Amino acid sequence: MGWLPLIAFSRSVGVPVTATLSRSTFTGLRCKECGQPYEAGARHVCEDVCFGPLEVVYDYEAIKSRVSRATIEAGPTSIWRYRDFLPIEGEPIDVGTGFTPLLKAYRLARRLGLTNLYIKNDGVNMPTLSFKDRVVSVALTRARELGFTTVSCASTGNLANSTAAIAAHAGLDCCVFIPSDLELGKVLGTLIYNPTLMAVKGNYDQVNRLCSEVANTYGWGFVNINLRPYYSEGSKTLGYEVIEQLGWQLPDHIVAPLASGSLFTKIRKGFDEFIKVGLVDEKPVRFSGAQAEGCAPIAQAFAEGRDFITPVKPHTIAKSIAIGNPADGPYAIDIANRTGGSIAAVNDAEIIEGIKLLAETEGVFTETAGGTTIAVLKKLVEQGRIDPGETTVAYITGNGLKTTEAVADAIGAPYTIEARLDSFQAAWARAQGHHIAS
Ligand SMILES: *Cc1c(COP(=O)(O)O)cnc(C)c1O
Ligand SMILES: [Zn+2]
Repeated sequence: MGWLPLIAFSRSVGVPVTATLSRSTFTGLRCKECGQPYEAGARHVCEDVCFGPLEVVYDYEAIKSRVSRATIEAGPTSIWRYRDFLPIEGEPIDVGTGFTPLLKAYRLARRLGLTNLYIKNDGVNMPTLSFKDRVVSVALTRARELGFTTVSCASTGNLANSTAAIAAHAGLDCCVFIPSDLELGKVLGTLIYNPTLMAVKGNYDQVNRLCSEVANTYGWGFVNINLRPYYSEGSKTLGYEVIEQLGWQLPDHIVAPLASGSLFTKIRKGFDEFIKVGLVDEKPVRFSGAQAEGCAPIAQAFAEGRDFITPVKPHTIAKSIAIGNPADGPYAIDIANRTGGSIAAVNDAEIIEGIKLLAETEGVFTETAGGTTIAVLKKLVEQGRIDPGETTVAYITGNGLKTTEAVADAIGAPYTIEARLDSFQAAWARAQGHHIAS
């Protein structure tokens, strides 16, 4: 594809399109397994040959000639500063997604016995407080370019929030599908944008199967089905940002949650691309993944030395990462093995402790997926799998205010007092653990 006249692509804004050249640097799609090339349409499997997943292909020479640290630093403080690495041709749908804080986690590090720990906080991503805003910003930009007017997704919660919100902003019709047992915050955080919301009686894997049928029957753009090659590229920005925020360096070790495994594999792709175009010096980075014991098909395969996934039925409070049949599981296992990382699982009690630990030490309130990541980080330190001094980045992918049910019974209650000083003093004394004689 390369340099195409922009006029060939529809734009939803009323600006007259002159015959300028596209800045697009992606050249099409390709099967990740057999290499078969495909045009850059709405497709995600290698229909002609092997049914493997399709991936976006770029012209890295073109990117290299156009991009430098300086051009990126001069770009917007959003994922679109990396637009030459993303599969869009025209103007992005820009809702301020990305460039979330990378916090040096001094207090959590000390608690765990580490000295060089960072938290990448996508719990404050825009517009819907999870990492899914990255993938949806890219997918819906591409959906609009491909002429879709209705967009959809199969979601474990955060994806529905993000798709509904960004579709609203872009003026696209939206119908999203979730399992019917999701947290109130995830349901409400979708409905407020007024999409059509289908709560399916079943788990995510059943929702996903239904959506594949709907995608084949209706002409909709499903961000994580027929638009999946574009959608998944959005996760690479979590790799780029960490490199840039570490002062144009790679970390030594990353820990990230695994649902389908896509996020994990795309952080790796992001690192590899910045090495390839000379934006960062190559060095080994270990990749470790986090799952909940109640849905740990990737961690189980890793522990048993398998390279294939045996699907499971999810039962965990970490609903946002509860995918029983993860599409990118084998690729995630391969990355963990090749980089000397690990994939581990923690139980629901440990997840709650992880949420509380991050909140108490760093002032970051994450959802269950983030609690899983912190609990696995702690476990890996205890197992000696993380060196105390290595630069470690834990990816926090969602916000705790969406899953308050998970911690409601595990935190304190307020002291309810009269609006009088003596009432306060009595409560304060109790709070200090002092005996009070009233
Ligand atoms: C979707 C999601 C993930 C991981 O998704 P992948 O399918 O592995 O890319 C992680 N954390 C949260 C909070 C999510 O919503
Ligand atoms: Zn193929």
